[in-house]
Amino acid sequence: EIHSAYDNNDAAKLDFWAHRFKSSMSAIGADIAANVCRQIELLAKENDLAATVPLIEKLECQVEVLEKRLKKILVELEKSQTKAAVKRAIETNVGSVLVVDDDLVVQGMMVAALRGLGIANVYSASSGKAGLTLMNNEIDVVICDLKMPEMDGVEFLRHLVSRHYRGAIILLSGEDSRILNAARQLANAHSFYFVAALQKPVEQLELAGVLAKINRKQIPIVKSLPSKVSLQELEKAIAEDQFVVYYQPKIDTYSKQLLGVESLVRWQHPDKGFILPDDFIPLAEENGLIDALTDLVVDASFAQLNRWRSQGIDITVSINIAVGTIGRQIDFPERIMALLDVHQLEPQNVILELTESGLMGDIAISLDALVRLRLKGINLSIDDFGTGYSTFRQLQGIPFTELKIDKEFVMNASTDISSRAILESSILLGQKLGMKLVAEGVESLDDWKLLKKLGCHILQGFHISRPMPGEELDAWLKKWKASMTNH
Ligand code: C2E
Ligand code: MG
Ligand code: MG
Repeated sequence: EIHSAYDNNDAAKLDFWAHRFKSSMSAIGADIAANVCRQIELLAKENDLAATVPLIEKLECQVEVLEKRLKKILVELEKSQTKAAVKRAIETNVGSVLVVDDDLVVQGMMVAALRGLGIANVYSASSGKAGLTLMNNEIDVVICDLKMPEMDGVEFLRHLVSRHYRGAIILLSGEDSRILNAARQLANAHSFYFVAALQKPVEQLELAGVLAKINRKQIPIVKSLPSKVSLQELEKAIAEDQFVVYYQPKIDTYSKQLLGVESLVRWQHPDKGFILPDDFIPLAEENGLIDALTDLVVDASFAQLNRWRSQGIDITVSINIAVGTIGRQIDFPERIMALLDVHQLEPQNVILELTESGLMGDIAISLDALVRLRLKGINLSIDDFGTGYSTFRQLQGIPFTELKIDKEFVMNASTDISSRAILESSILLGQKLGMKLVAEGVESLDDWKLLKKLGCHILQGFHISRPMPGEELDAWLKKWKASMTNH
């Protein structure tokens, strides 16, 4: 490629291939060749192709030497001098490995090193996309490069999450350790069985040590995963209303009073059982079914709220609305108002929690509808604040009344400096803007104490209560009130 770029007088291509070859060379510790590539790259950037001639020649000599050595190294790797005991440790837990690396030299070395360690099935792919097609095989360990064109390693991990991959993960990078650290946190956040982050060049001995540590029993048990649901099943579920709405209490941080509940939809699948929203809301959003689903949830929630209020339980209900839903339906505010009327409720009884998936509808229509909702007295909450699309900018344009801090920051606040900083500044920001502050994911008394100290008004989380069916709220509330007087 370097030759043909030069022959075609294509400086951009020469720059590109010299850069890639430089990474390959430094990944295997071939520093002289890497250095020559760097010089070619610099000259290509300056468009001085003539000056690259002696360098390309030098590179050719280097590669010739390297090729011979590389072949020998590959043979040695496949034979491997690794101790039998280490090999046995690996053998019991690792039957198959997938290597995903766009760098063919590194990929070849890894494959040879793994074979040398006695691993029976070694698969390899040079892109995330190709890697995913190989995931149909039983894979115990995925070794993945972070920096790849098209689909990078982080995106690849995200795909593994949605495929419910249950094996171990080893990350590779030529980047500095900070990037590897961030990637490690990411893998942990997705509750992967994260084994190690390795910096290139990776030695076989080091690889053996890491693989020997793997223990199948340590693979985290992820929440019971439904076998994948299909679009047809979801369509049928909506037509037949196979959904139930659960409700999770929101309490006043200081008085402990029950202020309201959040509606959280669950799918009661006839064969597959109870399915949580994260496993079907994205499917609904991608296929234009979310609006119909929202209608079911709104209707059920309003009917339930009406029952509570007639029992004298004076609370609000928070409903999750995908922003796109509002963008697509110009008459959304009027439909909500009509439904409130049907169920004899007031606008101030309702909070709409806006979640964004990136599938925004028409922004102008959304804003128009959001302003009208506010004018009618309906409260708007910005959900999952601090993550994804739910950020500072939205606070400026949209008239939110409530800021809901994502559980990730709440749960990690006591152990992670950056979570703590985001939590504290979100609270400060909300206070300055005169918004109600809600923290979700309150799992312990310590979380509660911290949030109290920081001035967060409202709490929601497992420490207070898990989401529950509507008819159980009354009994929960009696117990809750009793425990309040005990304190
Ligand atoms: P969300 O709106 O952020 O809802 C809070 C989620 O956190 C709920 O998960 C809840 O069960 C969970 N949670 C609450 N307290 C704790 C805690 O202390 N610890 C932990 N680890 N988790 C806690 P759930 O019910 O699985 O819902 C997930 C997401 O699905 C919701 O996140 C929401 O974005 C979406 N969703 C749920 N129902 C609907 C709906 O009717 N329509 C739409 N568009 N989205 C919905
Ligand atoms: Mg929510
Ligand atoms: Mg949330």
